[in-house]
Amino acid sequence: RGKNETREASSRHLKEFLDEMQTDHIREHLRKFTRLPHLAGTEQNLKYAEQIRTEWLQFGLDSVETVPYDVLLSYPNKSQPNYISIVDHLGNEVFNTSLAEPVPEGYEDVSDIVPPYNAFSAKGHPEGDLVYVNYGRTEDFFHLKKMNVSVTGTIVIMRYGKIFRGNKVKNAQSAGAVGIILFSDPSDYSANGTKAYPDGWNLPSGGVQRGNVLNLNGAGDPLTPGYPAKEYTYRLSMEDGVGLPKIPVHPVCADDAVNLLKHMGGPAPPSNWKGGLSVSYRIGPGFLDGFSKNRTVRMNIHTNNRVTRIYNVIGRIHGALEPDRYVILGGHRDAWVFGGIDPMSGAAVVHEIVRSAGRLLSKGWRPRRTIIFASWDAEEFGLLGSTEWAEDNAKLLQERAVAYINADSAIEGMYTLRVDCTPSLHTLVYDLTKQIASPEEGEEAVSLYESWHKRDNWTNDRDAPRISKLGSGSDFEAYFIRLGIAAGRARYTKNKKLEQYSSYPVYHSVYETFEVVEKFYDPSFRRLRAVAQVRGGLIFLLADSQLLPLDVNQYADSLRKYTQSISQLAQSHPEGMEMYEVSFDSLFSAVQNFTDAARDFHSRLQSLNRENPLQVRVMNDQLMYLERAFIDPLGLPSRPFYRHVIFAPSSHNKYAGESFPGIYDALFDIENSADPQKAWEEVKRQISIAAFTVHAAAMTLRPPA
Ligand code: GLU
Ligand code: CA
Ligand code: ZN
Ligand code: ZN
Repeated sequence: RGKNETREASSRHLKEFLDEMQTDHIREHLRKFTRLPHLAGTEQNLKYAEQIRTEWLQFGLDSVETVPYDVLLSYPNKSQPNYISIVDHLGNEVFNTSLAEPVPEGYEDVSDIVPPYNAFSAKGHPEGDLVYVNYGRTEDFFHLKKMNVSVTGTIVIMRYGKIFRGNKVKNAQSAGAVGIILFSDPSDYSANGTKAYPDGWNLPSGGVQRGNVLNLNGAGDPLTPGYPAKEYTYRLSMEDGVGLPKIPVHPVCADDAVNLLKHMGGPAPPSNWKGGLSVSYRIGPGFLDGFSKNRTVRMNIHTNNRVTRIYNVIGRIHGALEPDRYVILGGHRDAWVFGGIDPMSGAAVVHEIVRSAGRLLSKGWRPRRTIIFASWDAEEFGLLGSTEWAEDNAKLLQERAVAYINADSAIEGMYTLRVDCTPSLHTLVYDLTKQIASPEEGEEAVSLYESWHKRDNWTNDRDAPRISKLGSGSDFEAYFIRLGIAAGRARYTKNKKLEQYSSYPVYHSVYETFEVVEKFYDPSFRRLRAVAQVRGGLIFLLADSQLLPLDVNQYADSLRKYTQSISQLAQSHPEGMEMYEVSFDSLFSAVQNFTDAARDFHSRLQSLNRENPLQVRVMNDQLMYLERAFIDPLGLPSRPFYRHVIFAPSSHNKYAGESFPGIYDALFDIENSADPQKAWEEVKRQISIAAFTVHAAAMTLRPPA
């Protein structure tokens, strides 16, 4: 076939593929996979795995297997419930927090709803005075220090939101707390203009967010860091497990938080520490003088860690021409309860993508490269299923993986598209979204690109829809940050430019049902279809384009931007910069080098003889391996599994991405360093690592000989 013929066939197939995806099907997939709770490690989650395997085979995938691992999970003790008490001077429990959320209508007869808890909490019965620490962020603990409030020996109470809860727990533990209470404040989990579920999509005052409180830094299963958790695998002892908190942590609803907070004494909080409850938000420690003066708070936590079998489902379409090149679409299946939004809105979308791919296969289409579909298990327990599979297949993936697209929750708001991806995918995302229709009412003739651009312009960067850096907190982490595989994610989101890391209100509660999606988030299921088309279209084009649709010029632009911003950050410490002769010249010149190499690469790509399969393969390999070139085998300081030199999860918030994380962390709080000489030497070392890595990556783009 001539090259134009090939390209036309491929774009006709893309259109056929996108048009095949249907709202009614997505609705049905979501309905059937949200009827019962399916926590990782339970019978029901295995049943859904088997059902997905069966249906993917029926849809026409070439092979589908379930792949087990034995990983550390954490469950409440069924005979000793977790709760928190206010205890009077005689030792009587005068108030106890609730043991469960009120069950939503229609689900009264459902058993196996796990009560709210924080997975991997330590067991124990710590008792002490309460201290309110706002969101428990690094800056919140700095503020307490400035106010001379010590949390040593106390039980801290903090609100959910802004950052990953594991970071909150790490901060509180480091500050000397003996227990941690997390609560959902209405100012963070109730939007104006809607009501509490089931009359709206706000979190009811009895609703609670579950969630793990690990600090894994990319390790996966806490007991088998670096190696897949198979039957024969050596396991660390529980005491040595990676990232396990040492103190009890427990979440409560807003109603219970009022009872814990309302009699607190101590200094008044800064005004931005006040939430939406009718309490003073005094910081403590302890209760006001008066009747509650001699009262303390006691946590009663009996949660157990247990090695448990989990199951990934792995489906494949064998590539016709380059079977040894893999494009991966993966998302988790395990849910805290029903998983109405998280993750099944994403899993329903993947199911529809697989169905549509099967339809094309049945008409004789076959992608150039291999496509791998994954239904991950135990994401909620620390990205375990996806990380164990990455460890199991690391040698294959580092040689053969082209890209990884993540498919967690497909919707977190009703406003517009949100995309986070590696810079080399920017152009593909823009091209593709121009070929997809806006799902919004009254925008039938408008493209998704235009609809998205109108709602979220990338203002100070350029006139295009905003695309953000990848952070973490979902299954792409091991693929992108450990292995260096180009990665991206897309979902529908809310209209909130600030506090982008606080989730939608019913997140991880029992109220995340099928109905919350069908009544409020996406009654027409057109938003979910648009997300299916974006995720599916990305996979399609990555797997079927003759030349990989990766744009290394975009990487050059991003590197320049990140270099400017990190050097500006360093310039805010002019004395240190001067005293220790710190310079970013080497990094700027590496970026210039990269920029030139990228420009030359793309101009050679223009004149490439596409009829010569070896020449095509040579350049495709350069494109595929570019992301790999940013991996430092030694990893970041104290985070051996975070190996990407350009991107890592922020050390202060796992959800957020940090660029040049090694330099950023070396500069952090450097003014207060106990040993400035040493601290600035580390900054210089990190700049040199970044400069070398960018330079080395540039060399991979040069003509091979
Ligand atoms: N997505 C889950 C959460 O945010 C797990 C994240 C993680 O362990 O990194 O709770
Ligand atoms: Ca492992
Ligand atoms: Zn989740
Ligand atoms: Zn999820």
